[in-house]
Amino acid sequence: MDKPLFIKIDPKDNVAIIVNEGGLPAGTAFPGGPTLVEHVPQGHKVALRDIAMDEPVLRYGVPIGYAVADIKTGSWIDESKVRMPVAPELDSMQLGGAVFPPAPPLEGQTFLGYKNADGSVASKNMLGIVPSVQCVSGVVAHAVKRIEAELLPKYPNVDGVAYLDHVYGCGVAINAPDAVVPIRTIRNLATHPNFGGEVLVVGLGCEKLLPTDMAPPAAVSTIVMLQDEKGFAGQVAAIMRLAEERLKRLNERRREVCPVAGLVVGVQCGGSDAFSGVTSNPAVGYAADLLVRAGATVLFSEVTEVRDAVWLLTPRAATKEIGQAIVREMKWYDDYLDRGGADRAANTSPGNKKGGLANIVEKSLGSIVKSGSGPIVEVLKPGEKPTKKGLIFAATPASDFVCGTEQLASGIHLQVFTTGRGTPYGLAAAPVVKVSTNSRLAAQWPDLIDVNAGTIATGEETIEQVGKRIYDLILDVASGRKKVWADVHGLYNSLSVFNPAPIT
Ligand code: CA
Repeated sequence: MDKPLFIKIDPKDNVAIIVNEGGLPAGTAFPGGPTLVEHVPQGHKVALRDIAMDEPVLRYGVPIGYAVADIKTGSWIDESKVRMPVAPELDSMQLGGAVFPPAPPLEGQTFLGYKNADGSVASKNMLGIVPSVQCVSGVVAHAVKRIEAELLPKYPNVDGVAYLDHVYGCGVAINAPDAVVPIRTIRNLATHPNFGGEVLVVGLGCEKLLPTDMAPPAAVSTIVMLQDEKGFAGQVAAIMRLAEERLKRLNERRREVCPVAGLVVGVQCGGSDAFSGVTSNPAVGYAADLLVRAGATVLFSEVTEVRDAVWLLTPRAATKEIGQAIVREMKWYDDYLDRGGADRAANTSPGNKKGGLANIVEKSLGSIVKSGSGPIVEVLKPGEKPTKKGLIFAATPASDFVCGTEQLASGIHLQVFTTGRGTPYGLAAAPVVKVSTNSRLAAQWPDLIDVNAGTIATGEETIEQVGKRIYDLILDVASGRKKVWADVHGLYNSLSVFNPAPIT
């Protein structure tokens, strides 16, 4: 058996997590530490000392909950032994005022991207096709297959077709206050920088969300309305004709040296485990700090995975107003969950718990470290585009596809996605770099995981080393020099536009 290893994060912690694959059996003795009184699975918590009933269970130096009964040294602490604390009170939070470590700018960082007419840059050269309503989806999907088979081979400088299929548009309460969220999302998806301003919109003709609301201004020629075309054959022909016009122009584009400052990178986690907050997420946070120092923009999201650790984030707001905006988004989400008869506890999945996460508090503390250590310079409502560069909180649900869709609408060129349990998730419009939190997953899925951060848990690499590898890979992928596995295999999830508004 390998040497028994555990990771204790903060000196104050009274628990640690087991590193060894397969966990460790009862009787395992740690030098100077506890002897296990029962088997503790990998990634799960062991009590480092006796914890009395109602005493806090401390990880990351803060309570992740309270013991429901007396816990003996060396015991396995699974989720049933931890009572979740109440969510942090939002009205007494420190807003701004954090002191930041010195972060000298990284000068002269570049990547090979495409330059758009509006001054933005692109990491891929894609033909974007956006429906205004789900009714057209079958016809568009058919046309996309033919575009890929018959037209794309003639335009080798185009990376592919991103069909932004979504279920919005039919029977929606278009004037409901919350309808601004899906409408803004779809509109901003249509102008994603990776489409080079050449999006094609397909509408039906009787939908409430008008295609003209999505096409770039004065570009009505980019719209096909199926009810105006002669039969299925005419519909497909019209889509293919407009697609080919765009492919011709996109094919003229070439990669050029662009400043890294033009990049917008989203970070997300999914299928998290107890290693997420120790390995992959701190490494992603280190990469996020490097990107920000190079002048780029980093979006972090997932409101329910921020909510319980928000008191650690609001002091990092660059101004009091930005701190208030973080609180505003937390409150909006509390109300949204409340209306649906749910609360934040609904977030943690069976897989998360199998991976050693007791509850959303423990998950959140590990999740927010993806944001690195810098000041938060802006807060975006779901699907909004940034107006600033630097670290930005883009409020989205934590659901992988909804977060992915909303970050795409905010214009990410690339997403870094950390996972402990494993997911083959990918996005067509922008590459997704998948980082495993543990070496077991990286070994099991060598053709799906792009970066293994599990080497941090075993001491083979430091957080800084893995973080630098992630940063370098981001620039390689954004430059088209390397492909992420999801792009190699063409693994693309459906988009899932966030719609908190009613459907009629
Ligand atoms: Ca997620």
